[in-house]
Amino acid sequence: MRQAGRHFLQIPGPSAVPDRILRAIDMPVVDHRGPGFAELGHRVLSGMQTIFKTTQPVIIYPASGTGAWEAALVNTMCAGDKLLMVETGHFAFLWQKLAIKLGLEPQLIETDWRRGADPALIEQALKADKEHRIKAVCVVHNETSTGATSKIGTVRAAIDSAKHPALLMVDTISGLASADFRFDEWGVDVAVSGSQKGLMLPPGLSFNAVSEKALVANKQATLPNSYWQWQDMIEANQRGYFPYTPATNLLFGLAEAIDMLHEEGLENVFARHIRHAAATRAAVSAWGLEVQCLEETECSPVLTAVRVPDGCDADHLRSTILAHCNMSLGNGLSKVQGKVFRIGHLGDHSDVMLLGTLAGIEMGLHIAAVPHAIGGTQAALDHLKSTPRAQSKAA
Ligand SMILES: *Cc1c(COP(=O)(O)O)cnc(C)c1O
Repeated sequence: MRQAGRHFLQIPGPSAVPDRILRAIDMPVVDHRGPGFAELGHRVLSGMQTIFKTTQPVIIYPASGTGAWEAALVNTMCAGDKLLMVETGHFAFLWQKLAIKLGLEPQLIETDWRRGADPALIEQALKADKEHRIKAVCVVHNETSTGATSKIGTVRAAIDSAKHPALLMVDTISGLASADFRFDEWGVDVAVSGSQKGLMLPPGLSFNAVSEKALVANKQATLPNSYWQWQDMIEANQRGYFPYTPATNLLFGLAEAIDMLHEEGLENVFARHIRHAAATRAAVSAWGLEVQCLEETECSPVLTAVRVPDGCDADHLRSTILAHCNMSLGNGLSKVQGKVFRIGHLGDHSDVMLLGTLAGIEMGLHIAAVPHAIGGTQAALDHLKSTPRAQSKAA
């Protein structure tokens, strides 16, 4: 049966694509080797540097985020190289599995999937690695399976304090353009991102930002790679072109997304996400439910993972909400399947979209008979009313 009204896609990526970006993508395909293309190429390549906050090269792949994960490793590593990876949740776990398939040797720092990476444990592991066999520290900036962030600046400080030469690799696939990310200032060596989360685009583009130090590692790396090769990309990119066919129409959308982010002002975008996350947590707490992330200062501005009471099935709640409210919420992944549902409040997202989302959840909690207190939506509204939107000017 037809459901009236727009579908609420409230999963933490892909996020809803704003009409302005859909219109920008809706163009005839152009010749990616033609004379006019370089202008678009330069525009998105330099634009992405402003989003990563870097003067270093940004590589754009026609691939999902997973491709850029692989690119980060195959461009810098040799077979058998050791990595230090923090398992903050399902996505960190998947990156580790990918590394093993490539013939690398991850050393894991485990967590309870309810917090970010602990810099003290990273420092300890690096200090113990006297022979400097660890070639990279890999951390997920915004762990999309748990709604916990890691403080990347403090991870850099831990590596420096251990006086260890390992590269710092950061998955900011769901962090970039929603949560503050500072590639140069935080001394990140390789950042990995994707198009379908904070960048408000459909899936299909992914990114590597690469430091000088990563480019040096690239010269010594021997893992086989061809499609992912940074040097081929960087060479063609200097002229505004790509070594193979780029996802042309997504690049039209990317140029529009970069403009939109700067029109609002990146810092305003980050503040909006933080405010929506805080309002969401106010709702969860009023419902008497529990947020998956245990550390207040690590709670994600991008999404909130909510635990359902013991004996309840989060997936049943989600399917109830989909059927009754035409709204998709994120599922619990692997270890937390059925135990949590995830509310995405990222990308092109407004106060009224958030309130609609929370009202839909409150309705779903009632219909699915999940024990809860009423008033979560009201608590979020109160939070939004008491913290009016920042009026600061866009950069
Ligand atoms: C979405 C996501 C990925 C996976 O990206 P794909 O585009 O699905 O390959 C990896 N890491 C994080 C943190 C993500 O949010």
